[in-house]
Amino acid sequence: MTATASRPGTGAQTPLPLDVEAIRADFPILSRTVRDGKRLVYLDSGATSQKPRQVLDAERWFYENVNAAPHRGAHQLAEEATGAYEDARAKIGAFIGAPETEIVFTRNTTEAINLVAYALSNAATAKEPEFRTYAVGQGDEIVVTEMEHHANLLPWQQLCERTGATLRWLGLTDDGRLDLSDLDTVVNERTKLVSVTQQSNILGTINPIAPIVERAHEVGALVMVDGAQSVPHQPVDVQALGADFLVFSGHKMLGPTGVGVLWGRYEVLDKLPPFLTGGSMIEVVRMEASTFMPPPQRFEAGVPMTAQVVGLGAAVDYLQALGMENVLAHEEALTAYALEELAEIPGVTVIGPADTVARGGAISFTVEGIHPHDVGQVLDDLGIAVRVGHHCAWPVVRRYGVPATTRATFYVHTGYDDIDALADGIRAAQKFFGTV
Ligand code: PMP
Repeated sequence: MTATASRPGTGAQTPLPLDVEAIRADFPILSRTVRDGKRLVYLDSGATSQKPRQVLDAERWFYENVNAAPHRGAHQLAEEATGAYEDARAKIGAFIGAPETEIVFTRNTTEAINLVAYALSNAATAKEPEFRTYAVGQGDEIVVTEMEHHANLLPWQQLCERTGATLRWLGLTDDGRLDLSDLDTVVNERTKLVSVTQQSNILGTINPIAPIVERAHEVGALVMVDGAQSVPHQPVDVQALGADFLVFSGHKMLGPTGVGVLWGRYEVLDKLPPFLTGGSMIEVVRMEASTFMPPPQRFEAGVPMTAQVVGLGAAVDYLQALGMENVLAHEEALTAYALEELAEIPGVTVIGPADTVARGGAISFTVEGIHPHDVGQVLDDLGIAVRVGHHCAWPVVRRYGVPATTRATFYVHTGYDDIDALADGIRAAQKFFGTV
């Protein structure tokens, strides 16, 4: 990577597409201070994003004015709660180009992936023949990549343990990309499902989904895309994506905790048995046996996270008002600047693509001679929140031969000043530990 800095230590600052000061004013938490009065420099949106007032207001509005259990009860509040819940479903569906019948609310990405993994093993013993369509069993294969978050690895390991299927994976190149050279052998006639992240939470890599979808569909396998780090940061349209499932978390896209989304192609969802069973997902219940509603209700047992869904609807409104193309361009500019700034610091190594081609704003790095936890502690003392560790992607740090990394992630309120603070903080850590 070549730095285009106009003076040492200063990367090229192209004008940012988003008005950072105006956006910061929407986030109450950004006006608090940390560690003895220091400005909060929040560079951990990849773990969870902060929430704008509009989202907090939407949740409060729901509890103060509407609160009732949706899809149950005949009173006015129940009717209005159902309306608010279903309006949000339609809005969130439209955000990713999907009809509301294909949107299933879950607790988060993790639960959405587990829902599908359990549905596929439940399929093997389902009474209804059509629920056995996608059953996974001995001799079948599930394919992931070495880049996955644990949430997109362990559910598939467990599915294989339950069913006798085999887990296979695509490896990584030295520069932090997916190695697709053996795609045609790893994904083969035995493959039942391929699950791949669209944007790595640790490397920042944006993966090419099209060739994976093409190969998987050629052999009759389903494709799940983990959009936990892509849906919040770039325009994602499920029709263009071509996959069968897309999963993401509300809390990473300015929305509340406790709500995630499973999008599934209707004809696929329709043939899956439920994961969780209970209230409001049934057609007829008898003591001997019961039948289930069509999707999405079949997969939403129990009183749902209604206020959180309404809050996520407000988050979608907020992101759409900014424009997802602008969000993407904003983060691209920040990423380019951060890569230049970090390249100026001797001893700093970025783990992941060194340029901005097909790369999102998650920057993991090591600092020679200083453990990532110590880097994180010095940064924290300066009011800078980053993540340290293996980022729930242990195989990735192992692949690149490091014990852990420090990771900075960006979002709509991130500005060049945050990245300058990060670079200054790294230099302070080097001074503190005497490595320069
Ligand atoms: N996949 C990726 C790529 C992630 O970054 C995360 C969260 N760090 C998850 C899945 C899991 O998300 P959640 O914890 O919200 O279920």
